[in-house]
Amino acid sequence: MTEYIVTIDMGGTKILGALVNSKDGIVATTKKSTKVTKGKPGYPLALHETVQKLLAENNIKESQIKAICLGVPGFVDPPTGVIGMAPNLGLKNYHIKKELQKYTKLPVIIENDVNLAALGVLHFDKAKGKKNVLVVYVGTGIGGGLIFNGSVYRGANNFAGEIGHITYDPSGPVCGCGKKGCFEAFASRTSMVRDIVNDIKKNKKRSLLAKQVKAGIQIKSKILSQALDAGDKVAVKHVSNACHIIGKVLADLNNLLNLEMIVLGGGAIEAGHKFMMPLIRQSFKEYSLPFVGSHVKVVNSALGDDAALLGGIPLAQEFLGIKV
Ligand SMILES: [Zn+2]
Repeated sequence: MTEYIVTIDMGGTKILGALVNSKDGIVATTKKSTKVTKGKPGYPLALHETVQKLLAENNIKESQIKAICLGVPGFVDPPTGVIGMAPNLGLKNYHIKKELQKYTKLPVIIENDVNLAALGVLHFDKAKGKKNVLVVYVGTGIGGGLIFNGSVYRGANNFAGEIGHITYDPSGPVCGCGKKGCFEAFASRTSMVRDIVNDIKKNKKRSLLAKQVKAGIQIKSKILSQALDAGDKVAVKHVSNACHIIGKVLADLNNLLNLEMIVLGGGAIEAGHKFMMPLIRQSFKEYSLPFVGSHVKVVNSALGDDAALLGGIPLAQEFLGIKV
């Protein structure tokens, strides 16, 4: 009887569930839009329904599921199953594991979503077999996962890897965390788009994105990457600037950590890697100490969002000793 882990990526607007194991990878996925009011604990039921839907759609018995792994965008405590804070989910000091186990007897384990992706990258992506790796996701914000000696480094109380909130320039824009001038306030997709929109609106710059800006349409990674492919000057300018900053911050971190590999992922990189990766590598080289910088490979993830879903497999093994 084939055994599986259910990994669930908990998003602000949707829940993505996947049936995974190490032999077959991602066997099936299901999406569930959550009309859950922010901050209200309607989440456990939505998560339980996601698991049930995966079972029903794939003719699988509950006994074939060995654990449920939750990827949470925020601060979490894996050993206790408590979400410290997940701003996009509106959850704070919330015992998600305990609440979910009111619906199911299956073991539940939680992890920060980028740490989960880092585990996926380490076991199933380009970092396979590597020991010291940094995984960085550039999207709405910038998240990081650190792998030291082949396992996730979580720090003194599980908050390690908050690369997005390194202060890049204290005179910079206010960040979502409340501080000023964080790395992600300069180089996330949200920040790139903010600068592009401002440039078009304030400076009346001509751009292929002007239509979207005028109509108030949100500029997502795909549209941004199309503008880059077409050589749009405004998009090229601000994305290049962000790439320069990303390369610099990664070089600073690598000068400290002497890594084997840095893997970049997330919406912005997935859509725009052809344009972005050479610029990030160039800046990385510029700010790296020669002997440290030449040793590390800076690559984009081949798995994209699938990395976090597959990350449930090594996570279940690490915390529950379950191998599927
Ligand atoms: Zn911040």
